[in-house]
Amino acid sequence: MATILDGKLIRDQILGELTPRAAAFAAAGQPATLAVVLVGNNPASEVYVRNKIAACEKVGITSRKLTPPADITTAALLAIIEELNADPAVDGILVQLPLPPQVDASLVLDAIHPAKDVDGFHPVNAGRLLAGAPGLRPCTPSGVMQLLTRYQIPIAGRRAVVVGRSDIVGKPMAILLLAANATVTICHSRTSNLAEECRRADILVAAIGRAEMLGEEHIQPGAVVIDVGMNRLDGRLTGDVDPAAMARLASAYTPVPGGVGPLTIAMLMSNTLQAAEARRS
Ligand code: NDP
Repeated sequence: MATILDGKLIRDQILGELTPRAAAFAAAGQPATLAVVLVGNNPASEVYVRNKIAACEKVGITSRKLTPPADITTAALLAIIEELNADPAVDGILVQLPLPPQVDASLVLDAIHPAKDVDGFHPVNAGRLLAGAPGLRPCTPSGVMQLLTRYQIPIAGRRAVVVGRSDIVGKPMAILLLAANATVTICHSRTSNLAEECRRADILVAAIGRAEMLGEEHIQPGAVVIDVGMNRLDGRLTGDVDPAAMARLASAYTPVPGGVGPLTIAMLMSNTLQAAEARRS
């Protein structure tokens, strides 16, 4: 019987641990503060931002929501980022993606001060991750590491296969697993025999963005399967891995929803407090 890796349970554990850290800042009269920039009215982005702000309230982090219009220019958005960079009360800055097409997203993300880059996307933080130096890590992959660690799933010496090589999930996921001493393979759309590669995995991480693309032929019996995917299929939310195949073959797996998703927001809260502690020490 496969263990279901419960992301909500681990999220609540993490948020519970963060609450006293946030309370210490509030008691000192300088609450940890996250600025969230939501450009325009994308309904999915509005839901994500609402959830992030609700998590802030739960933990005791002050949130500041900025809502520039959808037709904002890159220069005007850069000016907002500069203001937030310079504001001593702001510990973390998050720009909700996607940005409208007229905005140069990488220019905007790179303008966030690395010390306030709570999404961990800035090249300085990406470089620190690669170098094994302390820094702010991307939330989704570090949430996966929390899930593995807290469920006491051994990583060192095991074969990990990450499907997906995006800068925000796949690549940092692979680096974090490598740092935890897994033997890591990264697969992508040009991998020639995906099923064969995946079947070698003791820990299989799917970060593809294609509904239930991985099935029984991709899963080694007894593997741990982490499904990062969030896709809409026939009106329901589903991951990148066929849930029936995971339930049948995996020793442990994350459900969608309720697996990796809740941890992403928990790690954003964690990063905000890490940024606040680093800036003030
Ligand atoms: P991207 O689209 O940026 O990257 C997808 C990756 O999958 C690419 O590297 C791509 O390869 C690879 N890929 C696509 N098709 C195939 C294929 N047929 N075979 C093998 N590899 C393939 O997506 P993200 O990394 O941003 O997100 C991945 C998924 O995770 C999405 O479903 C997203 O919604 C979800 N997500 C979930 C989060 C959460 O909190 N749970 C947070 C962030 C994302 P190539 O590079 O060659 O194109």
